[in-house]
Amino acid sequence: MIDWNHIDTVLLDMDGTLLDLHFDSFVWHEHLPRRFAESNALDLEAARALLKPRLDAIQGTLPWYCLTHWSREFGLDVPAVEAEVAHLIRVRPGVHGFLTACAAGGLRRILATNAHPQSLALKMRTSGLHEHLDELHSSHVYGAAKEERAFWHALQAATGFVPERSVLIDDNLDVLRAARSFGVACCLAVPQPDSQQPARPTAEFLAVECFERLVHETPRLARAFASCPQAQGQITTVQPTLGPPRAECAPSSRQAPATDFPTGR
Ligand SMILES: [Mg+2]
Repeated sequence: MIDWNHIDTVLLDMDGTLLDLHFDSFVWHEHLPRRFAESNALDLEAARALLKPRLDAIQGTLPWYCLTHWSREFGLDVPAVEAEVAHLIRVRPGVHGFLTACAAGGLRRILATNAHPQSLALKMRTSGLHEHLDELHSSHVYGAAKEERAFWHALQAATGFVPERSVLIDDNLDVLRAARSFGVACCLAVPQPDSQQPARPTAEFLAVECFERLVHETPRLARAFASCPQAQGQITTVQPTLGPPRAECAPSSRQAPATDFPTGR
């Protein structure tokens, strides 16, 4: 269990954690292959067959997350391709209430994302989430992906966050492992980052199935939420659960499948 009384910072991933990963899934599985097919006079399946191995070859590295890299590789304006379907960007349920409760409870809210700065800007502009966060940090500024220990050193130097007093919420298990190795006190996984896809096992990490429930079942956040007028209406009432821990909060030994497209996760 997390002792939230010893926590002063919440580190938050963006894609698949605060935002529905469906946008990124659609861009990289559907829209970008379609634009690539159009610009190269290919059918869609041929375009996908050309793109996939090039994407897979560097998955999880900083260039994999880099829109400038893929614009050059694919001969497309990838930030513009993303912007074409920006209407699909969605904040996940309960996120606004959770972030408001964190602020009211005295917790610093730091966004730490692998998203390219242009993608980060599009998503903040579209979602308005920056109004609910204290700091925004892209790994591209530090030259190391969140999967790398160097990122966490750089983020600590930039923000002064204390790992032993921090919680990380992320949907990428490799990122969670890197943060845990760095000493982050509590690492929580999001099991269903894409609302259109089934939930995945979260392996060795406790899961955040529902932000609303996390608020209501965390006394520090629940008290802050109850005392915060602007939080009302941002979150629905969730009945507290009784009895043994819910299945979604129990650690599992199974591994989640690897991701297969470059998003800020
Ligand atoms: Mg993510």
